Amino acid sequence: MKKETYLGVNVSALPEQAMLEVIKSRVQSGEQSTVIAVNPEKFIASQSNETLKRLINHSTFQIPDGIGVILASRLKGGTIRSRITGVDFMQKLLKLATIEGYNVFFYGAKEEVVSKAVKSAEDTYPGIQIVGYENGYYNDEDALIKRINELKSDMLFVAMGSPKQELWIERNMSRLNVKVFQGVGGSFDVLAGHVKRAPVFYQKLGLEWLYRLMKEPKRWKRQLALPKFLLKIIFNK
Ligand code: UDP
Repeated sequence: MKKETYLGVNVSALPEQAMLEVIKSRVQSGEQSTVIAVNPEKFIASQSNETLKRLINHSTFQIPDGIGVILASRLKGGTIRSRITGVDFMQKLLKLATIEGYNVFFYGAKEEVVSKAVKSAEDTYPGIQIVGYENGYYNDEDALIKRINELKSDMLFVAMGSPKQELWIERNMSRLNVKVFQGVGGSFDVLAGHVKRAPVFYQKLGLEWLYRLMKEPKRWKRQLALPKFLLKIIFNK
């Protein structure tokens, strides 16, 4: 599958629709797929965290989340031009699940958040089969795996923050009959309406980071990843 590599970290270079088609055909042939969103913060963390780098590079799809990845691709002659956030890709997968009749399971976030996220997805995608959910503080792993399998879940969203959610997926995927896994971080909080996305105006201009900075000034340290990442891209041959 088409990839671009920056600082040793892979990013999928397929348009969103093409990725969804590949996922659909992999489900048909019984192959498992994993989806992870990559952003400058993860590129930087991967430089000193081999586990994170492995989790990213071993995923089937690394979606380009954030303006940083697009800028890197432009600077290095790549072809990635549209950002795909984790929460947007999740919505596309929910739509695919509705059309194809895949069973969906949500795991992660606080009880009130995940239950609201399920309701909101059911309102947005009439007919969707969300067969079950569990909050992210439940940790009887064996019982949960059994339940997810018994419910014949095809698609599993895990929202426990990164890399906890990816480690969980890596550890358990071989004993799950699930076909599509996505680690979605704070996306259940967004679906539940507990965390607001930036207005479309900011999203279109690639300035979601600015909006989030204004709302949560404490984030500035995390956001240093963007300039750090771009400097590394420019100066690393
Ligand atoms: N969370 C969880 N179990 C844990 C730790 C965190 O379910 O043991 C949830 C938390 O309630 C929140 C989400 O994981 O809903 C954290 O998302 P965050 O925004 O930190 O993730 P990021 O998108 O930054 O990776």
